[in-house]
Order: sequence, then C-alpha cells, then structure tokens
Amino acid sequence: MEEGSSFQRREEVEIAIVGGGLGGLALALALQERGITAHLYEKHHDLRSDTATAIGIGANGVKSLNGIRSGLSKVMEDAGTYASCLKLTLVNKKGEVRYREQTFEQGEYVSIGWKQAQLVLASYINKDLIHCSHRLVRFESSEAGVDAYFEVTDENTSSLEYIKVVRTKLLVGADGIWSVVRRTIVGDSPRYLHLVDWNAYVPNPGAKVFGGHGEHEIVLLFDEDGETRSWLVDAGDLAKTLKRSKGGLGIPGAKARALQQLDGLDGWDDIKAAIKATDETYIFERPIMDNLPIKRWSDSHRRVLLMGDAAHAQYVGPGQGARTAFEDAHQLSILLKEAFSSSEDNSIATAVKKFEELRIPRMIKMQEYAAESTALPALVPEWVSKLTMEEKQKRALECQQWVHSYPEKMLCDPDSTYWK
Ligand SMILES: Cc1cc2nc3c(=O)[nH]c(=O)nc-3n(C[C@H](O)[C@H](O)[C@H](O)COP(=O)(O)OP(=O)(O)OC[C@H]3O[C@@H](n4cnc5c(N)ncnc54)[C@H](O)[C@@H]3O)c2cc1C
Repeated sequence: MEEGSSFQRREEVEIAIVGGGLGGLALALALQERGITAHLYEKHHDLRSDTATAIGIGANGVKSLNGIRSGLSKVMEDAGTYASCLKLTLVNKKGEVRYREQTFEQGEYVSIGWKQAQLVLASYINKDLIHCSHRLVRFESSEAGVDAYFEVTDENTSSLEYIKVVRTKLLVGADGIWSVVRRTIVGDSPRYLHLVDWNAYVPNPGAKVFGGHGEHEIVLLFDEDGETRSWLVDAGDLAKTLKRSKGGLGIPGAKARALQQLDGLDGWDDIKAAIKATDETYIFERPIMDNLPIKRWSDSHRRVLLMGDAAHAQYVGPGQGARTAFEDAHQLSILLKEAFSSSEDNSIATAVKKFEELRIPRMIKMQEYAAESTALPALVPEWVSKLTMEEKQKRALECQQWVHSYPEKMLCDPDSTYWK
C-alpha cells in the first residue's frame, strides 16, 4: 500500500468491488477462480450477520454457482438444505386460498440461509482481498480508471480512522438496493412497493408445511393496508420445537404487527403459534422495495458498473434476486477474463459494454414480471390483466422455463409465446 497523509491512504488494485453481499462475494470468487485479483470492500465490520431469511436457488442460480466455481451448488446444498418440494400458499382476506406446488430433482433447487450462503462464498476467497469496515462515500471516474474513496472505521468504536483512496481499473457497485454507486451514476432511488414482510429464520425439524425442507423461514407478506397479497409460509411444528437461531433484527412491536395481519383469518393456527413462540429479536420486518429497470448500468467511461440488487433489485415474490446476482457474477467474470487476456487498451470498457448488452434486456423483462407479480394494479400492464387464467398460467410456466434455461437463451425465448 502506498501511504498518503496520515488521514488519507492510497492503494491501487485491478478491480474493486463495493459490497460484500451475495453478488459482490460471488463476483470476487468468480474472478479469483479465473486468476483475476479483485478486492472487495464492505461497509460493515463483518459480512452480514443475519437477515432472518433463507434464499431459494433454482436452476439458473444452481448453474451460475457451478459456473462460478465447479461444485459450488453442492457445497451450498450441504450448508443449507435440498428441497424436494416447494409449496406456496396464497391467501386473501376473504379467506380464499390457492396452493402452488413445485417438485424438484436432487440438486435442482437449493435452500440456504442468506448469511450461510455468504459465508460459503467468503470461505473460498483469499482473506486479504476482503476489506470490512470500508464504506464507499464517493468516486471519480475517467477513461484511465477510477479513484474510489472509502471511510475506514474502527471495528470496535466505529469511529472514522482514515480515508482510503483506491485506484482501480474497474469499480463494481455490488452495494445493494440502496447503492451509493447507483445513486451517483443514475441518481434515482428505490421504489416502495407498499408491501411489508416479516421473516424469521428458525429451526423447523418437523418440516410439516414444506416437505423436503429442514431449517427454514417464515415469511408473511402484506400490503400496507393489511390486504394480504401472499403468504410464503414454512413453519409446521415450529411452535412446539422452536429453538433460537443466531442473530436477530427485532424491531419493537414487529411481532405484534405480524400477528395483527392474521386477525380474523381461520386455519392458520400453526403459523400464529409459530410467530407467538418466536422471540421478537428473531423477526425481521421490512418494507419491500425494488429498483426500476434502467437501460444502462455503467458510467460514461464504462469504468464503473452496477450488478446485483444495485442494478436490478426486484420484488422478492419470484425469488430471483440472488439467482440473477449469481448470473451477473458468472457472466461478468467470463467477460473480464477475456478483457484481462487482451492487449487492447479499452478491453475492460468493451467487456462492460458486452455485459450490459447480455444482461440488461433479460433483467428488464424479469424486473417487470416481478413487479407485476405483486398484483398491484398500477404495475400490471393492461394487456396482461386481460389474459385468461389459462393464458396467465402458460405465461408463468414459459417464464420459468426461459429463466431456468440459463445460460442458454439469455435475451429471450424465441420458442415461447410470451417471452420472445
Ligand atoms: C425476504 C427476502 C427473500 C428473498 N428470497 C430470495 C430467494 O428466495 N431467492 C433469491 O434468489 N433471492 C431472494 N432474495 C433477494 C436476494 O436476497 C437479493 O437479491 C440479494 O441478496 C442481492 O445481493 P446483492 O449482493 O446485490 O445485495 P446485498 O445482499 O444487499 O449486498 C449489498 C452489500 O453492500 C454493502 N454496502 C452497501 N453500501 C455500501 C457502501 N457504501 N460501501 C461498502 N459496502 C456497502 C452492504 O452492507 C451489503 O453487504 C430475497 C430477498 C428478501 C428481502
């Protein structure tokens, strides 16, 4: 490291990744696997402690993980659970109930705690490349490279120790939905979808509701008027067997608010009991947001690039956020490998452009579809609302087949009716 004034230190790295979430860690690992050194900067003192959430990783996520590092999805499966069956229960306040059920072959679908998934990814990355307590505050980009400014804080006191200026050929903003990188190059902010969810990640040894799951989560999803949109419930015998899981993000009153949503609904005794038995410190309450689709993810010099939620945060319903962050990491690492092997001056900018061409059309379609699946009238295109139930089901199935065909048919599915 090159030292500047005592308050400012400078260093130079090939690639700087902002954010040690699933996307940033996946990219750091994918690049390391391809012989490219990327340094990762995370604002927190540790990689995320607990989100009280599990991540479901379907076929596109599984293939991306194995493209990042051979056998990675199996390691995730061993650290999480293999789900043979996923049951989704949709209820509205009138008490109308719909069930959706999907079954999976071994290895097709992995369910793992968000934190556990991060720890698996981090376990393969050279520790010297992960810098916690580094908060990106601003950057300056030119054709020659980027200077990124990080506030470095003391692990114990959180007081500011010094500013680190990192000179890099490429700055990747993997800093999530509230991305500073996106705010700087795009200038927008996340959209509130008027939905709130409550999660708890707790043991579920009976796996009564979700066949095939072991440890998992309870997710309740409501709009802010209390109209139930959907329930993603994974609880079973939880009330009887509950043990404390590690961490906790309890907001005072969160448990009462979650229970309030169930008032007047019959047939949910297991879930009510499970929530009642869960210590409030384990309940994560969050407003649901997304980022609007955008047509460019890079700055004018193509030296700063967004990925993951920073680029395409989407409504959680279809569960594609982490999977598509893994797709990003996989594809970007392939393109950067080519760029670093090339003697051309602008090979990195070329890789960034190719990445955008490959990823943005796919993600716009997926973000719009996710937004539409909130069923909020303003987010459902008129032509979609006019489809018959049969047509809607065909469209949903075709979407899933297209998304799961990754890495084939990246941009669209020419064989489908709705995803051409
Ligand atoms: C309830 C819920 C359920 C979900 N279920 C699924 C699912 O089943 N399947 C699925 O695929 N996806 C799911 N997702 C979505 C998935 O969790 C996200 O899409 C994914 O975590 C995005 O990863 P990311 O790395 O882009 O962002 P994040 O995970 O948000 O990581 C961003 C990181 O950047 C750091 N950071 C932010 N600002 C700065 C800064 N200025 N300087 C340095 N570091 C910074 C943050 O601290 C954080 O560590 C779910 C999400 C939620 C909320």
